[in-house]
Amino acid sequence: MSVPFFRSPWQTRELAEQMGQRVTELLQSGHYILGPQVQQFERALAEHFSHDTQAVAVNSGTDALVLALQLLGLKAGDEVIVPAGTFIACYEAIVRVAATPVLVDSLADDFLCSAEQIERLITPRTRAVLAVPLFGDSSATPAIAQRCQKHDLALIEDIAQALGAHTRDTNGRCQQAGTMGDISTASFYPTKTLGAAGDAGAVISSRADLLERARALRNHGRAGAFHSEVGFNSRMDELQAMVLAEGIARLESWLQERRSIAAQYLQHLAGVSDVTLPHQREGHAWNYFVLRSHRREALKEALARRGIDTRIYYDPPIHQQPSYLQRYAPIVLPNVESHSRQALALPLFPGMTASEIEQVVEAVHAASNTLCQ
Ligand SMILES: *Cc1c(COP(=O)(O)O)cnc(C)c1O
Repeated sequence: MSVPFFRSPWQTRELAEQMGQRVTELLQSGHYILGPQVQQFERALAEHFSHDTQAVAVNSGTDALVLALQLLGLKAGDEVIVPAGTFIACYEAIVRVAATPVLVDSLADDFLCSAEQIERLITPRTRAVLAVPLFGDSSATPAIAQRCQKHDLALIEDIAQALGAHTRDTNGRCQQAGTMGDISTASFYPTKTLGAAGDAGAVISSRADLLERARALRNHGRAGAFHSEVGFNSRMDELQAMVLAEGIARLESWLQERRSIAAQYLQHLAGVSDVTLPHQREGHAWNYFVLRSHRREALKEALARRGIDTRIYYDPPIHQQPSYLQRYAPIVLPNVESHSRQALALPLFPGMTASEIEQVVEAVHAASNTLCQ
């Protein structure tokens, strides 16, 4: 029996059949874009956050990032500090608005970067920080938010991998991922903690002025008969909104499953030689369970031979990608570079069976035993 890297909850027969009926109704309704399903999902998403938050549904997490940067008024000459250890979309969005991405290394023993590392890169041209709770771990965000306040910088939280995560600030107060900055962006790409059956994203904020503009910008800058500014087409379709409204009602139970699987991996893989496990942190959403190994390629192959599908996030890192080197001079970020050579994500998804979890654990032990002989 093989274990896939990911299986969407919508693939399971019960949910697929349940949604099938509703898809038929939706097709018959003739209302396909920005309709009642989108409104309902936007309300449900806003209610997920404790503050007085609003959400605007868009076409992808990448579009949400571009919109967020545009809403904050970022423009040519402005510097935005962003982790180098993240998905390429974070870098692309900054380039899209003509601002300058300033890439920050991660810590030696963590995929995240620290507030101190960010603070060292602040210049008179710095306007914003794009914080990324990578793999679902938002533990570094409160300190980053504090530095942003101190230096009067805008903070964008890209919670593409951390919807449902929480952490504690220095006063011990619980902080939800997505509520610590000026504006947050989410992705509902199928593998995220809340996945659609296609592309979708959202912009989230408690600043009503920003979101009113977001609503216009996603639809060609349209407000009534007028096009108030040059926007783009980033509308969410009704089908994705319907799937997502169903999904968000299940998010808490999916997160519980993710946390339980991660806890089992952490317990049963502790001490495996040449495997560094991810940090266990309160409120981690465990979008991805990423370990590190000096023999990553061999481990990946050994797991594949045992039927276990894994993924690599992110290699090469942003600053070694052609799309970066076309524009900017080469830089060296030793920790991100070493993590990118060592990172390997194990299967982890809601609906994973006890036997699948056991197979992964056994395969990692077996692979490590053969590799370390
Ligand atoms: C997935 C992801 C995005 C992009 O989302 P899309 O919906 O695929 O455009 C942006 N940032 C991070 C950190 C992501 O993981």
